[in-house]
Amino acid sequence: MAEFDVIVIGGGPGGYVCAIRAAQLGLKTACVEGRETLGGTCLNVGCIPSKALLHASHMYHEAHDNFAKMGLNAPSVKIDWSQMLAYKQEAISANTKGIEFLFKKNKVEWLKGWGRIAGSGKVEVAGESHAAKHIVVATGSESTSIPGVEVDEKAVVSSTGALELKEIPKSLTVIGAGVIGLEIGSVYSRLGTKVTVLEYLDHITPGMDAEVSKVLERLLNRQGMKMILGAEVLGANAGRAGTKVKYRLRKDGTEHSLDADIVLVATGRRPFTEGLGLAEAGIEVSKTGQVTTGPGLKSSVEGIYAIGDAVAGPMLAHKAEDEGMAVAESIAGLAGHVNYDVIPSVIYTHPEVASVGRTEEELKSEAREYKVGKFPFMGNGRAKAALSADGFVKILADAQTDRILGCHIIGPAGGELIHEICVAMEFGAAAEDVARTCHAHPTLSEAVREAALACGDGAIHA
Ligand code: NAD
Repeated sequence: MAEFDVIVIGGGPGGYVCAIRAAQLGLKTACVEGRETLGGTCLNVGCIPSKALLHASHMYHEAHDNFAKMGLNAPSVKIDWSQMLAYKQEAISANTKGIEFLFKKNKVEWLKGWGRIAGSGKVEVAGESHAAKHIVVATGSESTSIPGVEVDEKAVVSSTGALELKEIPKSLTVIGAGVIGLEIGSVYSRLGTKVTVLEYLDHITPGMDAEVSKVLERLLNRQGMKMILGAEVLGANAGRAGTKVKYRLRKDGTEHSLDADIVLVATGRRPFTEGLGLAEAGIEVSKTGQVTTGPGLKSSVEGIYAIGDAVAGPMLAHKAEDEGMAVAESIAGLAGHVNYDVIPSVIYTHPEVASVGRTEEELKSEAREYKVGKFPFMGNGRAKAALSADGFVKILADAQTDRILGCHIIGPAGGELIHEICVAMEFGAAAEDVARTCHAHPTLSEAVREAALACGDGAIHA
């Protein structure tokens, strides 16, 4: 029986990062993964393939909407869907092979198969037993559906099926205006599909700063995505005219239906822990299926840890990565720490939406005095030159100390710009610290500085 210091179960961003860090710290490490390739949901059927399709469809949109304005008179750009899918597959393969290479380089052993915890210090994979001083559960999550809507990955798809449709549908009904619904809805809307989004709440993107959410809704509407808000989906049935989705409008109780070629269910995900032997091993699990963890991401059983989507907190690859590193470091006797107050989140629509820290709504509910510094991309030379000046940067700072409490960006490259504020928040910076930092001109980052200036005496270009 092979014996390891650490066995990580799951080779997604949480698990593979944990394994690599553990190996780098001198621990004999193995990572269990049952998929054909490493990288988990994110690399195989999530973040990476969706970003490839978002990139390609954005290019197509640019060619149609902006090329002529820039003096680029190309013959009309046509979509070759099978090539677009092949391009997406190449992006997946390049990334998953990269992780395999990193495992070899760092001497992480890949145990191929689905793992099961067979008691403290023991993991079974493909009929073989392996011993480990420490076990890390990093098994991620799976899509959920709602009552009356059955996913068959053909007519009614989850994000996985939506990223490999045989053809571009003429019409798509999206259930849920969260991150997945809006990103995948954007892909198909740009490629010419009639996209309608049904959302239970009266606004899109739950948890997001309300002002940003409203602007995103308006911009996506302008791009052709129709939002039906306050709509409770009751069920979906395959019919002659595609799949019929029945929904009830919460404001007046009236029932309606919608036909579409394809229905995407994007109503959330749940921890994936099936067959892992958690109950038999005596590992405590919450009502929502997450592994209960205490300080240091330790489970209720000595020597077993859990990270990422399998535990509480936002289901984000980078949160899982940070937890993976923290656990590896604490097993190696180092500090191992995650700052949950500075975890950015990004929606890769166009424009991108990015946020970190508190929203205005949260600060109000905490009765905390704050000030707002806001700057529109309309005042940013680089954004205007790129015909991409929709949106704004909003920084929230403590009214007395000027310490940055949150930042919300809707605009070009928002997902990149947010990290300046993440670093500033890690250092406990005031808005004035960002405002006094020289920013290269002309860059989109100047909009962040201007928002910081707006927290003080005022932005220059507003
Ligand atoms: P979500 O929780 O972000 O959104 C689900 C939406 O569905 C909500 O707005 C909810 O109100 C709505 N809904 C639920 N039941 C409904 C019903 N019966 N009728 C109509 N609407 C209903 O979930 P998601 O978009 O599926 O994403 C799952 C997880 O994956 C999230 O935690 C998300 O953060 C993560 N994710 C993140 C990224 C990213 O960071 N860019 C990308 C993809 C997924």
